[in-house]
Amino acid sequence: KTAHTLRPNWLKVRVPAGQNYEFLKTLLRTQHLHTVCEEANCPNMAECWGARTATFLILGDICTRNCAFCDVKTGKPEPIDWEEPERVAQSVKALNLKHAVITSVNRDEREDGGAPIFARCIERIRDIQPGCSVEVLIPDFKGSKNALKMVMDARPEILGHNVETVPRLFHKVQPQDRYEWALTTLRNAKRMDAAVLTKSGLMLGLGEEWEEILAVMRDLRECGVDIFTLGQYLQPNKQRHLPVERYYPPEEFAELRQIGYDMGFRWVESGPLVRSSYHAEQQVRALSPL
Ligand code: SF4
Ligand code: SF4
Repeated sequence: KTAHTLRPNWLKVRVPAGQNYEFLKTLLRTQHLHTVCEEANCPNMAECWGARTATFLILGDICTRNCAFCDVKTGKPEPIDWEEPERVAQSVKALNLKHAVITSVNRDEREDGGAPIFARCIERIRDIQPGCSVEVLIPDFKGSKNALKMVMDARPEILGHNVETVPRLFHKVQPQDRYEWALTTLRNAKRMDAAVLTKSGLMLGLGEEWEEILAVMRDLRECGVDIFTLGQYLQPNKQRHLPVERYYPPEEFAELRQIGYDMGFRWVESGPLVRSSYHAEQQVRALSPL
């Protein structure tokens, strides 16, 4: 495979603007909510926000971990905000969302990792925006079954946890994470409730080998993962984050998509600009009985 090290054309995107974009932005400010879209400077903001889709970032905007690809602030977090689920649910209603995606920073200082807030968000959305499916992209909770169970008991349609990279690169890319915790979380979620769709994904371009990608995909299938996402890693900041080792061309993403389907994933979203919440609503409509 040829190396691509200059940012190629297929990664150029529109600048976000327009009515829905402005509406969402104002709503998030007044409700004191954060989104991954903004924190991670996601390249799909024009498309997603234009369609009134956003990924809420809960449990504050300060993370207890320090991953080398991530733009979220690290440090000592604020106390848990028990009113946050209400504001998330009210925003979901105000936006009239049919599918809500919620993720969080890590809260390793807490035994429960913040799991009760995830559960409460799901419950409140059920209460005030019936018919809206909910996808949670959770931390690994260090493999804790108790924390995971709190989230699973609230029965989201999709339970996601991203592996992000291949096990050999964990120490460089996300030193406080363990590959085993990620797999344990996904495996346990499927065992606790097989009806809940599970989802995971990788960022490509951090120095992984083709064979290593396939090995992770096989591991995820063994854990019963239903939905798999693959996207290109983009360096958020030149000084503070890992460089891009390689830009994968769209044809290779297409090849990996086919390999994923052949391995038995029920849905594979694979392309340079794919993020785990990209096209999430389509996945849940196609796969969930809701
Ligand atoms: Fe936000 Fe996800 Fe869309 Fe990116 S892909 S703009 S993070 S909803
Ligand atoms: Fe960013 Fe998540 Fe890593 Fe925290 S755990 S630094 S939010 S990727």
